[in-house]
Amino acid sequence: MPVPIPYVAALSSDLPFLESDLCIAVPRNGEPHIAYMKPRPGERDAHGNLWGRMKRVPGGRVLFESVDPARQRECMERLLCQVCAQPAERADGTLFIEWQHPSEPPMRLDKLKTDMPPLCPTCVPVSLRHCPFLRHDQSAVVLRVRKSVPCGVAGTVYRADLELDRWIPSTHDAYSSYTKPRYPGMIAVRMFRRLRGVTVVDPDSLAADPVRAP
Ligand SMILES: [Zn+2]
Repeated sequence: MPVPIPYVAALSSDLPFLESDLCIAVPRNGEPHIAYMKPRPGERDAHGNLWGRMKRVPGGRVLFESVDPARQRECMERLLCQVCAQPAERADGTLFIEWQHPSEPPMRLDKLKTDMPPLCPTCVPVSLRHCPFLRHDQSAVVLRVRKSVPCGVAGTVYRADLELDRWIPSTHDAYSSYTKPRYPGMIAVRMFRRLRGVTVVDPDSLAADPVRAP
């Protein structure tokens, strides 16, 4: 069986936006904020965050550890499976995968927030078996989640230079909570959900796996 290409994964051939695509929008009253020279519909989310552009260019290697921002956002907003892009919600809860790193304190099931989109029950065993990113990490934990709530985004925060003619990256991988004012210079690349009503699931209980080795 061919290894599926996860819907959210970036390809090594994908092209990110250029800094020359950015401009500084200066509202009459208010702080300058980051914008694209040629804006497209849907690039700002409901909280006003501008999202990173990535142009899909087929033919490259699958980057299992790297996500396409628009696809990650789509899966997180609509709770689609990150592998097959079909609806991941089920009557008994939605499945997510998290990590328990040996060097970190035990996972607090009541304090989880994640940027890993959910998975449908069929794709959980497929991911655990084939995804090199998960396979190399023995600490993957499958979670069944009763409810998940969008809670923020992460990305690069840029600051405008003194002449207000270009943006300079200042903080990478910054988190911006929806409950706090957004960063005017942020380009979002990942959306987060806070997980509620979380239980740990034995992946073997999800689906029979006829090709698994005994
Ligand atoms: Zn799936």
